[in-house]
Amino acid sequence: MHELTAREALPKHVPIIAEHDTWISVDPIVGCPANCSYCYLGPIGLKARLPQPRVSPGRAVEMLCEYLDETRSHMGGDIDSTPVCLGNYTDMLLTAANQDYLRAFATELAGADLSRPLVVVTKGRMPRPLALALDDLNIAVVIFCSQSFHRTTLELRTEKGPVLAPDQTFDAGAECRDIKNIAMVHFWRPVVRKSVPSADWAVRAVRRLKDSGYRCSVAIGLSVGAGIAQEELVQTGLLEGTAEARDELWDAEAWQDINSAAAAVGYPVYRSTSCAIALATGRAEALGVWDCRRGAAEQCLPCHCPRTQRDLCQSRTLQPEVAQEHLAWIADTLGSSMSGLEVLPGRRVRTGGRVRQSMISLTLHKYQIELLPESISAERAWLGRFGRESGNE
Ligand code: SF4
Repeated sequence: MHELTAREALPKHVPIIAEHDTWISVDPIVGCPANCSYCYLGPIGLKARLPQPRVSPGRAVEMLCEYLDETRSHMGGDIDSTPVCLGNYTDMLLTAANQDYLRAFATELAGADLSRPLVVVTKGRMPRPLALALDDLNIAVVIFCSQSFHRTTLELRTEKGPVLAPDQTFDAGAECRDIKNIAMVHFWRPVVRKSVPSADWAVRAVRRLKDSGYRCSVAIGLSVGAGIAQEELVQTGLLEGTAEARDELWDAEAWQDINSAAAAVGYPVYRSTSCAIALATGRAEALGVWDCRRGAAEQCLPCHCPRTQRDLCQSRTLQPEVAQEHLAWIADTLGSSMSGLEVLPGRRVRTGGRVRQSMISLTLHKYQIELLPESISAERAWLGRFGRESGNE
């Protein structure tokens, strides 16, 4: 398996449309006014920066439609409903200009009638007039409010700039709780032991999240991948010393406290963003996290997931057969032959050579097939969960 070097992990340019693990990322704006020590935008020079729009909201939606047409027009009624996530290289709520952009983009998206949820990940607060304007568009919007809780326990600030403090994150949830088309999700990242000081603290935090109107949380560990500046993590106390590059350092004890609190309070804390989107939109989880061959033992079964949601997910099963036409599409797109594809249990397909990250995500979204290439050609600063034989069970 080819390991990424730091140089390879840095994207040379940020694509405007890109397929990520959970969503289709639309990035018409680059630059984030926040400055977080664990952020993948640091090494590519995009944090603590004024956001720079590159195309208009109308053009961004047009490019999205062109991309969907190019990648999915042949699928007919079988088309996937992968969400659209706006602004992964900025923060759409941290400046007034970005908020205006979000409103205009959502309006164009509603006009395009794509039936895909709109996701925004933010450390900012949704102003009430913007929330009401988005609600009027009648599209499903999922806001991931990122709050690490580092500020409650760590002496050094890991997040600088105009980001919300923990109390403000609780308020931000409460302000949108009555908005029908907006689901508020708390993004608990990165979870480190120091920021979850005790089991009692975890119960209090989870109860406040629930009482503030958050539908659920998603807990993610600390990334120490090749695209992360580890020196900053050491300086701020998040990391004891530099570590071998890998996607996620997961603190099992901190998770135990959080997950026990989730069960005690009756509030879902998930391990995958796709679970939160499933719960928020009333659909089955789309990537197969509920299947034992896709990581259910770690990502699904331990989570305190409502019975109705579990029933929804259980109604889906991974089709054991991989259709010949899907294999033909993979071979054609990779420029290889069908004989070079080895079909494994759990809708996994092993292939030789080097495959782009976006191709792995696209194949997963379109056909629920996980490609396992010999090596992955990096397009993002993080490797993601899919495409590696060691990535799941
Ligand atoms: S049943 Fe499992 S996969 Fe489905 S939403 Fe719940 S935790 Fe996620």
